[in-house]
Amino acid sequence: MGSLLGALCDLLWTPHCLACGAEAFEASPPDGLCALCAARVDPPFPRCRRCGRGVGPHAYDEGCLGCEGERWDVDGIVAGQSYRGVPRALVVALKFQGLLAAARPLARWLEDALRMRRVPGDLLVPVPLSAARRRERGFNQAETIARHVARGLGLEHAPYALRRTRHDPPQSRSTPGRRRRGPRGAFVARGEGVRGRCVVLVDDVLTSGATALACARALVRGGAVHVVIAAACRADGHAGAERAVPEPLS
Ligand SMILES: [Zn+2]
Ligand SMILES: [Zn+2]
Repeated sequence: MGSLLGALCDLLWTPHCLACGAEAFEASPPDGLCALCAARVDPPFPRCRRCGRGVGPHAYDEGCLGCEGERWDVDGIVAGQSYRGVPRALVVALKFQGLLAAARPLARWLEDALRMRRVPGDLLVPVPLSAARRRERGFNQAETIARHVARGLGLEHAPYALRRTRHDPPQSRSTPGRRRRGPRGAFVARGEGVRGRCVVLVDDVLTSGATALACARALVRGGAVHVVIAAACRADGHAGAERAVPEPLS
């Protein structure tokens, strides 16, 4: 009966690619992407262990040319994909069109990257939205991605371990003064949930890192012993190119 129902559904409903919206002509294309988009996704490539930017063969442990002079007070940064092309289209579909299924391929790439780096972690914590922003959007995209990653890696997920006490306007609309002040929002760890834990902090896109670093500091204040930032996508062009990419709304 189930297969009959499935066949009927396939007849009535053609799957569409999550990234480009084209008809995908398969019952369930891998990752929900059409063949063209699937072929346009980069295979995993070496990233700087310190800042998470793609560095090709020029990775060394102390950092890369891109993060010289930057402060990254965390135990590492992992990224699933660069923030461009198909992965960027998926982030847009997830955040601004509410296409929750787009979180699945993003989570899978992040999961692969975490496995490859053998990141020590026993708790996944998403970067929170403020209560107002969450109400407005109806979900937190970082939490949706983290839930999939937690299931894939068999790790505990604590979606409410951090609280965002303020939500400044996105940096693209903020004043230079506010931009210099850094993170958009203030964060606190709730209760004792992260004390003594090795936390993997999950976000959808890492650009300047100011928001993720503010979360990491809140986790350490809350007693976390180890914090790694895990972003589904990393804006990792050289500094000039990165500035050209507007800070995504969070
Ligand atoms: Zn496509
Ligand atoms: Zn680097």
